[in-house]
Amino acid sequence: MNHPLSPDTRLYIAGHRGLVGSALWRHFRSRGFTELIGRSSDELDLRDSTATARFFAETRPEVVVCAAALVGGIVANDSKPVDFLSDNLRIQLNLIDSAVSNGVRRLLFLGSSCVYPRDAEQPIVEEALLSGPLEATNQAYAVAKIAGITQITGIRRQLSLPYISAMPTNVFGPGDNFDPAAGHVVPAMIQRFHRALVAGDRSVTCWGSGRPRREFLYADDLADACHFLLDNYDDRVAINVGTGAEVSIEELARIVARIVGYTGEIRWDTSKPDGTPRKRLDTRRLDSLGWHARTSLESGLRNTYEWFLANTDEARVGGATRAGLPAEGDAPTFKGRHG
Ligand code: GDP
Repeated sequence: MNHPLSPDTRLYIAGHRGLVGSALWRHFRSRGFTELIGRSSDELDLRDSTATARFFAETRPEVVVCAAALVGGIVANDSKPVDFLSDNLRIQLNLIDSAVSNGVRRLLFLGSSCVYPRDAEQPIVEEALLSGPLEATNQAYAVAKIAGITQITGIRRQLSLPYISAMPTNVFGPGDNFDPAAGHVVPAMIQRFHRALVAGDRSVTCWGSGRPRREFLYADDLADACHFLLDNYDDRVAINVGTGAEVSIEELARIVARIVGYTGEIRWDTSKPDGTPRKRLDTRRLDSLGWHARTSLESGLRNTYEWFLANTDEARVGGATRAGLPAEGDAPTFKGRHG
């Protein structure tokens, strides 16, 4: 398949205020796309099927990227399984149903590498999907995403529409959720080390043993991959998007500490979950189409820290003393992104 999107395509980026959606928005703007459509969760609650159907009927997008989801780090996922399952099922069902009934010609559904079995052979090939039990800490989120992938393959088979799915590895970048209780590991560590630097703390405590390994993809690279896939990919297989490079969480902590300029001790709270030991993606399918990630972990982290310093209230007022920020050990108080 090779039908490049044209810059006047009416392209709806669902979730355009989130980590991935905002990177998609930047990407397509910088490529001269003039007909981008986005709605914040205040303007459009994607969990509401009537409102979502009305929005599609009014705006008539031609192409849709589903980057809207309730997302969170390991503890948020583990402690709010009902929210992660039902909000995500509703969001994606409303989006995909509305796309079909309003004649959307192309749609990209974004999943996550957590859809694969916990003990999948590494690196994880696309065919590992549904071949074994899931990691417990993010099962609800993963089951919702698997339902979305199944809906896409069903639509391809039953309705012959060229809708596709992609499975990115752990994504990070500007616009992430830097709440240390609810965010994913990269923004949580940036916030923790920054606070410790500002407060002059002698040590920072990170979660788990530090031994799990993760593969990190910079959000702007993922946006570029999404554009590439919309132009070049048309297959029922939910395609992996990653870098092929892995680091241990302990190595990640050392890199983040160096970038932030924090020189104190790093401790590990083993009462917090490690989650999946490894989830490195096999990216040969995407490699063979000719797409590769461009941003190194180091430069992606530097850009993200710069964005954090320039854009967050937490960074501006300097750390944990600010009222309203959750303290270490607080219950997750996260706000998901629905639109
Ligand atoms: P996961 O890939 O679904 O497990 O998502 P996370 O990004 O939340 O966590 C990745 C790994 O980083 C896990 O092994 C966590 O235990 C570890 N980790 C270490 N410190 C932190 C932290 O401050 N926040 C989060 N979310 N994870 C952390």
